[in-house]
Amino acid sequence: MSFPTDLEIAQSADIQHIKEIAAKINIDNDDLEYYGKHKAKIPLKYIDEAKIRNSKLILVSAINPTPAGEGKTTVSVGLCDGLNKIGKKAIAVLREPSLGPVFGIKGGAAGGGYAQVIPMVDINLHFTGDFAAIEKANNLLSALIDNNLQNKEHSLNIDPRTIVWKRVMDMNDRSLRKIVVGLGGLSDGIVREEGFNITPASEVMAILCLSKDFEDLKTRLGNIFIGYTFDKKPVFARDLKAQGAMAILLKDAIKPNLVQTLESNPAILHGGPFANIAQGTNTIIATKTGLSLADFVVTEAGFGADLGAEKFLHIKCHYAGLKPDAFVIVATVRALRYHGGAKKGEYEKPNLQAVEKGFENLDKHIENALKLGLKPIIAINHFATDAQDEIDFIQKKCDELGVKAILADEFTKGGEGMRELAAAVAESAESGENNFQPLYDVNDTIETKIGIIAREIYGADGVNFSQKAKSQLKTINNLGFDKLPICMAKTQKSLSDDEKKIGRPIGFKITVREFEFAAGAGFIIPILGDMMRMPGLPSVPASEGMDIDKDGNITGLS
Ligand code: ADP
Ligand code: MG
Repeated sequence: MSFPTDLEIAQSADIQHIKEIAAKINIDNDDLEYYGKHKAKIPLKYIDEAKIRNSKLILVSAINPTPAGEGKTTVSVGLCDGLNKIGKKAIAVLREPSLGPVFGIKGGAAGGGYAQVIPMVDINLHFTGDFAAIEKANNLLSALIDNNLQNKEHSLNIDPRTIVWKRVMDMNDRSLRKIVVGLGGLSDGIVREEGFNITPASEVMAILCLSKDFEDLKTRLGNIFIGYTFDKKPVFARDLKAQGAMAILLKDAIKPNLVQTLESNPAILHGGPFANIAQGTNTIIATKTGLSLADFVVTEAGFGADLGAEKFLHIKCHYAGLKPDAFVIVATVRALRYHGGAKKGEYEKPNLQAVEKGFENLDKHIENALKLGLKPIIAINHFATDAQDEIDFIQKKCDELGVKAILADEFTKGGEGMRELAAAVAESAESGENNFQPLYDVNDTIETKIGIIAREIYGADGVNFSQKAKSQLKTINNLGFDKLPICMAKTQKSLSDDEKKIGRPIGFKITVREFEFAAGAGFIIPILGDMMRMPGLPSVPASEGMDIDKDGNITGLS
């Protein structure tokens, strides 16, 4: 019999009522806001700063992934179950999936095999409506802007050609990247060029993920930069008095969502910015709620450690005042084959030579972690196609570098297959051996900060700025937003800005094509290469394999 699909495993799970899960972490039933029987929101009052200081934060990131993903979410969920297996009180705190990847190439983001969060279908589809609320808050601001252009009486005199605020939708839809709005007659708005980003790239998503409470949320929403007036004065969301109404739309979205793993351990899913085009980690509120309710929090930073972990450390930790107590880098044999030059269609076939060559990618991520003050533990996410000599090689090399590489068998065995990794991670977290030190100072110039990330993390020789980027840099400096952390928008497939450069590229410079900046969320976004903040669908989208029958049973979701 073949191994069951993620969906089959999730659907046959013995799912508990969410109140049973809440009871395990001492949440009063009366405090839960139920979304059916298996999902609930946790009120903000459960954040307890004293408890947070004593709990351990475990950050999970990865090497540069193949398009399928290397299993950070799966390993994170399995690690949470593994920690609970060895008697530790642990919660997985993760992001909510976006519909873009669900229907596109990657599939859902609720883990896989016997390491999943459930209810899987709900989580991957509309869940508790947070993304919809973010989309609405974002688009309310867009509507207010266009209304102000139309309205002569209360006009802010905004120059429509300078507006940088975009509408968003949670779908991979390349046709919306550049559009024209306001066509029609006198009463149909002002014609201007506009565009959509995907919801995980919305600054409202970033703001929600970095806000501490409602006051902070409103301040950040009010600080969103929109564009300029005809006399070149900057215009912010607060000039349109938008922040109050936008925050109202987020009144529920701000609260973390409680679900469970297949092994009935608690998991919190909250917020979902992508890591290539945004900051790539769940909300500060969710992380703090998790740390308040358990002794260990396992959290994921998206894509490779060059993107997700770098931003987790320099942006999220900066704003939240948190530091990880342990750092896990997920590696797979198949991704190392890929980095070692194995061709498409051959990633699943044993190839020791390719693994030996591709190890340089993992090596660079280990080196980076050490530079940041973190001693990584390597989780070799075990696939059925791994050959023993390939695994032995990775473990031997890591041993030479003085880091542990442990086989993670969560996919086929759940928490039981994670005992060894869980024990090593718990020991590392409790040892105090990790002390994250930022590589740059936020008060450095923007060029310096980008240069440090490029050289130290990517291994680049330097940074080129396009003419457009140079002029935008002046604008950002003139507006006084230069003392913010950097949120790189870069391909996840390579340590460089060129997805074809696999392994550990050397002798390259990165190019900043343009800048965006998030004055409300509080970071600057250099856009490298042809990164799109609105992805497209592949030629054969995952949606083609999906169906629902007459009884409402869903198939094909992965
Ligand atoms: P990431 O979080 O790194 O993007 P995911 O955890 O979402 O990756 O995993 C990506 C896909 O790979 C999922 O469909 C998952 O089911 C599958 N997967 C993860 N680990 C394994 C494994 N050990 N064996 C087989 N498939 C796996
Ligand atoms: Mg993931």
